[in-house]
Amino acid sequence: MSQTHAPPNESVSTRTGDPKASGTLFIDGVWQAASAGGTREIRCPADGSPVITVSEGDRTDTERAIAAARTAFDEGTWSATSPWERGDLLLRVSDILVRDREEFARAESLDTGKRLVESGYDMDDIAACFRYYGKIAGTDAGHVVNTGSTEAISRVDYEPVGVCGLITPWNFPLLQVAWKVAPALAAGNTFVLKPSELTPSTAMLLMRALREAGMPAGVGNLVLGSGAETGAPLAEHPDVDLVSFTGGLQTGRIIAASAAATVKRVALELGGKNPNVVFADADFETAVDYALTAIFLHSGQVCSAGARLIVQDEIHDALVDEIVRRAELIKLGGPFDETAETGPLISAEHRAKVEDYVARSTAEGAVLRTGGARPKDTELESGYFYLPTVLDEVRQGSTAVTEESFGPVLTVERFHDENDAVRIANETHYGLAGAVFTSDVSKAQRVAGKLRHGTVWINDFHPYLPQAEWGGFKQSGIGRELGGGGLREYQEAKHVYQNLRPGPQYWFAGPESN
Ligand code: NAD
Repeated sequence: MSQTHAPPNESVSTRTGDPKASGTLFIDGVWQAASAGGTREIRCPADGSPVITVSEGDRTDTERAIAAARTAFDEGTWSATSPWERGDLLLRVSDILVRDREEFARAESLDTGKRLVESGYDMDDIAACFRYYGKIAGTDAGHVVNTGSTEAISRVDYEPVGVCGLITPWNFPLLQVAWKVAPALAAGNTFVLKPSELTPSTAMLLMRALREAGMPAGVGNLVLGSGAETGAPLAEHPDVDLVSFTGGLQTGRIIAASAAATVKRVALELGGKNPNVVFADADFETAVDYALTAIFLHSGQVCSAGARLIVQDEIHDALVDEIVRRAELIKLGGPFDETAETGPLISAEHRAKVEDYVARSTAEGAVLRTGGARPKDTELESGYFYLPTVLDEVRQGSTAVTEESFGPVLTVERFHDENDAVRIANETHYGLAGAVFTSDVSKAQRVAGKLRHGTVWINDFHPYLPQAEWGGFKQSGIGRELGGGGLREYQEAKHVYQNLRPGPQYWFAGPESN
């Protein structure tokens, strides 16, 4: 293996905008430039200001990273370390994240345009995720199986899958990375990480933290670049044993199809079109407040955003009027504007997609109650801002209901009774998350039981816990992240059976036979 070099601390902390001479790919314990010398400039979506220039890798770089991860897995010591040692490393990473919280949060905010305070909360959740997997790593020792005989013993061990390809999106850049890297390492795997090409900075900082915490060279590798160039080989390559992907449905389909050729393990965390069901007996102010946070947090760029408000007839007018009034008061601004309540969209291309979604929805009959445009404020002109938008009276089966906008766009549907609410909420090919607001505890539990979504909130929206599984029903994904299930994704179960009284069985004819 190559000699270990110091990570490029200053390249992500001083924000000079200059590429580091050593490069920003991290392969086999060495910071390095892309083989073909490519670079990419990252600009802040809030104002277009330059943030950092990073190495832009290609297929060759990913193949080199896969080779490093393969060698580290097959010939290195990592997969044979005790789970307690691996757990200790993750706990050290958690401590580093707490220590360097401000630096990580600033880097995340500059790449995404997200408010600094929100990035800070994300860093707290990321530290908690590492802490959780650090603590459970050593408790997951497999189990003894009762053979029903005194002449044989049997157990099931959990072993690492091998080399993991980890591909992540831009909306919660480091959070999505942490949900994969922490359990992958806890289980003893090696990995190649390919974060979104739009938001690479905190993945670089994490690699620095992993090295500081003692991760051996080759165990964790980072490639930066486009999905088609640096991401695709992670799904295709025979030396990758598992590909875990978080991102859009179309990309997920491509990855699953590519992975099928080598029958590698596939984990997919895809989009959502998440229903927020509000009954007439819900506390009105609570329902309004949560409906706003459900969709307008991070300008709707949340896979579990409550983008579909499904409201009971009796309170439709009052609820929607109040949501519209309050949406118009939401203050947009950049990451360091302390008066801002939410930020920009990630890119010009993404804003154009949201605009197209709203145009097609209104053309199909949705009633535009507010938003549907860029803000007029001149100080926001250089960022990719879009006004909080409410589309009322959307029809089932229309663009507004079936497609994920992934922007600050709330659609409104009505329902008459409980059965109607459940039917409408389940009428989507997605199944990531949903919520129900009501003061009737039994009704809340009945509806929660019937929703075909991986997470259901009752009188709440958005909370998740590192110790609870996260993932989608239907086309929102395959597999689970977080919790014990999130660790299992990165393990193979091996049954070891030992005969304590070995001797011939003579199922077939013995030595005396002719
Ligand atoms: P995306 O699918 O465009 O990209 C995600 C990642 O995949 C990026 O790193 C990208 O470079 C890479 N990629 C693109 N094409 C690839 C290919 N052919 N092979 C390999 N890798 C490829 O998604 P995005 O726009 O970055 O993220 C938004 C989507 O992510 C939304 O649909 C959102 O709902 C979803 N998401 C889901 C969850 C979840 O937990 N279920 C969490 C966050 C985001």
